Amino acid sequence: MTRKLRVRQAQTVLPFGVGAVLDVQGESFVAAGIETWPQAKTPVPSERLATRLGATGFYAAPHTLNDRYDQPDRPGVPYVRFPGWLFCGSCRAMVRFLREHEKPGEPPVCTSCSAAPRLTPMRFVRICADGHLDDVDWWYWAHSSLAPELRAACSEAKHAWKARRLSFRVADRASGLEALSVRCGATRDGGKPCGAERDLLDILGPQGGRCSGRNPWQRRNENSSCSQQVHNVQRTAGNVYYPVVFSALDIPQTAEPSRAEQDLAEAVRGHGYWTNLIDTLGTSRADLFRGMIKEDTDAPDSLIDQLLAEATGAPAPLPADRPEPAKLDLSRDEWYAFDAVELPEPTKEFEIRRGGLDLDGETEEPWATLDAHIDGIVLADRLREVRALTGFRRHSPHGTLVRADTSGRLRWLPATEVYGEGIVLTLDEQRLTDWENDPRVRAHVHGVRTDLDASFRDEQLAETVGSELSPRFLLLHTLAHLLIRQLSFDSGYTTASLRERVYGRPEYGQRGLLIYTAAGDAEGTLGGLVRQGEAPHFAETLIRMLEAAAWCSADPLCAEHTGQGFGNLNRAACHACTLLPETSCQTGNTLLDRALVVGSARVPGYFTDVLTASREYAAAMALG
Ligand SMILES: [Zn+2]
Ligand SMILES: [Zn+2]
Ligand SMILES: [Zn+2]
Ligand SMILES: [Zn+2]
Ligand SMILES: [Zn+2]
Repeated sequence: MTRKLRVRQAQTVLPFGVGAVLDVQGESFVAAGIETWPQAKTPVPSERLATRLGATGFYAAPHTLNDRYDQPDRPGVPYVRFPGWLFCGSCRAMVRFLREHEKPGEPPVCTSCSAAPRLTPMRFVRICADGHLDDVDWWYWAHSSLAPELRAACSEAKHAWKARRLSFRVADRASGLEALSVRCGATRDGGKPCGAERDLLDILGPQGGRCSGRNPWQRRNENSSCSQQVHNVQRTAGNVYYPVVFSALDIPQTAEPSRAEQDLAEAVRGHGYWTNLIDTLGTSRADLFRGMIKEDTDAPDSLIDQLLAEATGAPAPLPADRPEPAKLDLSRDEWYAFDAVELPEPTKEFEIRRGGLDLDGETEEPWATLDAHIDGIVLADRLREVRALTGFRRHSPHGTLVRADTSGRLRWLPATEVYGEGIVLTLDEQRLTDWENDPRVRAHVHGVRTDLDASFRDEQLAETVGSELSPRFLLLHTLAHLLIRQLSFDSGYTTASLRERVYGRPEYGQRGLLIYTAAGDAEGTLGGLVRQGEAPHFAETLIRMLEAAAWCSADPLCAEHTGQGFGNLNRAACHACTLLPETSCQTGNTLLDRALVVGSARVPGYFTDVLTASREYAAAMALG
């Protein structure tokens, strides 16, 4: 019997990237660190992403028909069998399956039974918050209730990690974990049977004993000394693996600053004190002028620095009390490209055109009101996205980051490229600003911001949200979720095949979102999503989305929530109305609130007027 293990190249970053545990046809493996990758790999260029992540470059696993865990010289990504402990469903013998037992293309079978049935991986594994993963010490488990001297008397005690006489038993009369036990069939010094046995009732959760300080593909001498408590979990549990993935779209180098940023730059350069600021640079008076320009224009320091550098031909002197310049913001240039006055020329990696709701001059409701809330639509016929895995965490999302290269020697990262298409929706800046200045909106978002500050400040969350959570981010993010759900309902795309990118940072003039599908190769995708974004479908989709968003099957509970989801970072948003598959969302399904879209008793939604107009229109139609 031979079998092929097939992991597609696109899956080698997500969901089966370095450190992930995967089930393949009844066998279980873990994806090994990139230091074990074969020499032949495919370069994946992405200059912006490399700059952002400080990597020398990216490589994808070479294409292969059969990803081989057991032959390091062959193409494909190496996967290592894990857990190493397997059992026979027929005779219940437990087998520590070693690398030297592997036969290429063949699953492990029981050598104690004549029918040689396939062995099954044990269901439980051990993890720690420093990102280590190992087998449960089953020999120790079976002997854990014995006195130390009896334990030491077992003939298997000296090579417990590959003990040969364990069995995994099921009791007939009990159920649940209590029905399962591990038993030792070895002998004690003196020839008596050992017979140590313990059921699995307490197998899950924190355990005593030391962490091995490594991951399964690392050699025994590659361990680090780890003082974290170990936790036993099911190997399919969600907390075994939290990948850390960054992604960037390819955009033409010439992408210009957005209109809003150009306007802001004009306001700064046109300010009465601008020339005074340039003339007094380096003196304390400059700080005064700078302060007044900032106050009048709301321009961020980064923009003023940039304009000063342009005006003086030198980098602006950094005041000592200001932190280092922020890391390259990936969303910033992407937004410039989508919001440019003149859209960039199409390339192999980036082709966009202006779309629209086609509602100009429309006086009928709800279309006229809808049109007033939307600034524009850009259709992306072609996008290229590079996704790179920097590493992973275990036990909790705040665990220690384990780098994709566990040897610590490599400066490149594993990545994949995908091509796709998308729809960019941009909201009206003036209406958005007015809405954001409503005290009820400010107070509402202030509450979420407080919860966000109290929760972990995950680097990636801060990277997406910006230095301070804005009302527009929450609005646009929720809108992206609702739109993905509606598009999926209308067009047959699964929600998992659509993704969001939220451009909600007011300091860059951002006020939009991108919904895209990225699963295609260089030939691209079929254009189905872009068609959904064309007139007249899209205006209808938006109205249907708003009507659906006003109601959740978990209401009134969902609508009135003051904190649900991870870190209580969601308000009116749950699985029934707003949440998406993890892979579709940039923020792990946090920072969502339908109330900011459609309104609630406490806070006006950006689209409340549109919804009201739509309902009045429906009521008028019903009355004839
Ligand atoms: Zn057997
Ligand atoms: Zn024993
Ligand atoms: Zn550890
Ligand atoms: Zn809900
Ligand atoms: Zn999301």
